[in-house]
Amino acid sequence: MSAHETLHIDGVWRSAASGATREVLDPADAQPLALVAEGGTEDTDAAVAAARRAFDSGPWPRTPVAERAALLRRVADLLQRDREDIALIESRDTGKTLEEGRVDVDDVTNAFRYFADLVVNESGGRVVDAGSPDIHSVVVHEPVGVCALITPWNYPLLQASWKVAPALAAGNTFVIKPSEITPLSTVRLMELLVEAGLPAGAGNLVTGAGDPVGARLSEHPDVDLISFTGGLPSGTRVMRAAAPTVKKVALELGGKNPNVVFADACATDEGFDTAVDQALNAAFIHSGQVCSAGSRLIVEESVRDRFVAELARRAARITLGRGTEPGVECGPLVSAAQLAKVEEYVASAVAEGAEVRCGGARPAPSAVRPATGYFYAPTVLDYCHGAMRVVREETFGPILTVETFRTEDEAVALANDTEYGLAGAVWSADTARARRVAARLRHGTVWINDYHPYLPQAEWGGFGKSGIGRELGPSGLAEYRETKHVYENLAPRPVRWFAG
Ligand code: NAD
Repeated sequence: MSAHETLHIDGVWRSAASGATREVLDPADAQPLALVAEGGTEDTDAAVAAARRAFDSGPWPRTPVAERAALLRRVADLLQRDREDIALIESRDTGKTLEEGRVDVDDVTNAFRYFADLVVNESGGRVVDAGSPDIHSVVVHEPVGVCALITPWNYPLLQASWKVAPALAAGNTFVIKPSEITPLSTVRLMELLVEAGLPAGAGNLVTGAGDPVGARLSEHPDVDLISFTGGLPSGTRVMRAAAPTVKKVALELGGKNPNVVFADACATDEGFDTAVDQALNAAFIHSGQVCSAGSRLIVEESVRDRFVAELARRAARITLGRGTEPGVECGPLVSAAQLAKVEEYVASAVAEGAEVRCGGARPAPSAVRPATGYFYAPTVLDYCHGAMRVVREETFGPILTVETFRTEDEAVALANDTEYGLAGAVWSADTARARRVAARLRHGTVWINDYHPYLPQAEWGGFGKSGIGRELGPSGLAEYRETKHVYENLAPRPVRWFAG
């Protein structure tokens, strides 16, 4: 494959039919990092046609489940073999630290292994008692067909794997379209799938823009399922474009995630330190460019001053820089557009009355290297409230807003006051209270006295406008399966419904 042959269609690496290319930038210095093919409608149609042929007449959907699982396990082994290389690609492309890149590779390795085990264990049908010895009734699962997989820029390898692994496990074929901003680890993943032995056409990759590539996949009549992870505006466009063909749609969208801290969690020095430390991690890891980022701190009023002061002190000390440099704790934002968006949110918050406790600006060029990167200082905004845009909208940057409450009911009301519902946390030393609050939160993942962990065995997804459907867990496999009832009459006789 040469530098810009990043389309993989019907088993062949190629450049775009138009010959167009796109420069991928390194967000740490805004310099070109790689050149990829800029796929268009013609390439997308070719990829869908290849996936269609591979599904209708190729070997993959008819491959025994144990062999499909074995391929997923080979991919997991290859991911571990190339762990450092892939972590480096992810770090350079997204700006995240190298260590975060390694964590991502390990997590997706686990996801491939999980779906390999799950599909073998759950491959059997369900026999239904139809009430007669002459009837054999069985419910079986089959692959959906051609799956279009569209992913965002913040966790490119992880989001691709959460879709590719279950799609292949279930016997589907796919076309994947990574974000045009960070496509490189998906190209690497495709290479590993080929090396692991995936048949031609079963997995296809089109690098290119949301419109036309993603838009064409969403409307395409030969696509049976679309699984999309990204922002709410694009997600609604995907759903609208998919409607006329009534394809299955799974959406993993944004979040505006509350991190609720009760005073009793801070009663001891150790408890206080843990809650502050985890609030920092919740909000600022990957510079806040995380769908589940704990970007709304909702803290009990009696501990607010102490908590926010310590949080701001520690946030101001976060070391920014190129993610591959030792000692760097936070990388840059992914693009100039993302940086401009974050600056605009902070300005609007200040105009609406928020108080900047730390950050609130780009770091001085002398304070961060490379000086040309898209860096923004971790920012804590105090005295925020639910009418502010910065509290309501997903900023996707290193911005933590602070709101306060006095009662448990108030804490729950604030935490649920969002159109999203992806994730949230509650911190309390009172187990009964923590569980009570967790039960009332309208979010797809709720952490108690923790923030951010997830498990491949446990479903991930959102309530409200955070999406439709679930990834990971048994439901993450079920998304990629059709259910069929086969009713077999062992002693057929006329029914004589009609007299003639
Ligand atoms: P985005 O919506 O801008 O882009 C996501 C993908 O959609 C990209 O590949 C893009 O090219 C494509 N796209 C854009 N317009 C399209 C269209 N009209 N039709 C089809 N595809 C189109 O999102 P982003 O900025 O890349 O990613 C950030 C967003 O992703 C945030 O909102 C974040 O919360 C969300 N996200 C959600 C999860 C989750 O698990 N719920 C995980 C990661 C990111």
